[in-house]
Amino acid sequence: MQTVVKSVTPESLNEAGEIIRGGGLVAFPTETVYGLGANALNGEAVRGIFAAKGRPGDNPLIVHVSEASQIPGLIRGDIPAAARALMNAYWPGPMTLIFPKAPVIPDEVTAGLDTVGIRLPSHAGARAFIAAAGRPIAAPSANRSGRPSPTTARHVLDDMQGRIPLILDGGPSQVGLESTVIDVTDGTPRVLRPGGVTPEMIRAVAGDCVVDAAVMRPLAEGGKAEVARHEVPPLRAERRCDHF
Ligand code: AMP
Ligand code: MG
Repeated sequence: MQTVVKSVTPESLNEAGEIIRGGGLVAFPTETVYGLGANALNGEAVRGIFAAKGRPGDNPLIVHVSEASQIPGLIRGDIPAAARALMNAYWPGPMTLIFPKAPVIPDEVTAGLDTVGIRLPSHAGARAFIAAAGRPIAAPSANRSGRPSPTTARHVLDDMQGRIPLILDGGPSQVGLESTVIDVTDGTPRVLRPGGVTPEMIRAVAGDCVVDAAVMRPLAEGGKAEVARHEVPPLRAERRCDHF
């Protein structure tokens, strides 16, 4: 397979949308790092991400949307008040929220978990790509497993040459840090992975938050925040965000 790098234009967005709707993969820019995207509603397409990355299938992917209005169709139940406050303050941006998943999200996306991580990125190219696909986009970082997360199209090409048909080049990523992963499934927001949105920022709008004990240990590259969380005994020490 020949890998082509194209800047973000109406033509390349059309082509990217066709690839996604056909079950293929497209690398795309976001404000954090470059993502490797597939149609999040197509389990077979999502399996292609793991194959291209050489990533174990037991690590959940983040689902990227271009509009917050897409979320009710992807989750179970209502959006909790704390999640709404976080969405209003920090979306679009480097923040992933964990919700109970709707059955429409295949197990390949969530590694069999009953929850799904969702993000509305701020990068204009990312949102134009998701909108052009007309599907929510499941995506991890666009590096081969064990390599650093890419912040330029060139980095993606170095890792993905011959493995994917198209890389959308939207310039260097601005944040270079991955998104903050926050579990909003039970009342108080819980930080599962640190990132661009800090505990202080969460606390400022949601009143309180806890930082999961697993965050205090370094996660291996591609580490599984959710699994680590369940390995922690129920009476683990938690740290309030103002002490983080
Ligand atoms: P990335 O490594 O950038 O592909 O982001 C994926 C990471 O998001 C995973 O390694 C987890 O840390 C986190 N994540 C995604 N979905 C979930 C979920 N349902 N529950 C907990 N953490 C999740
Ligand atoms: Mg990664």
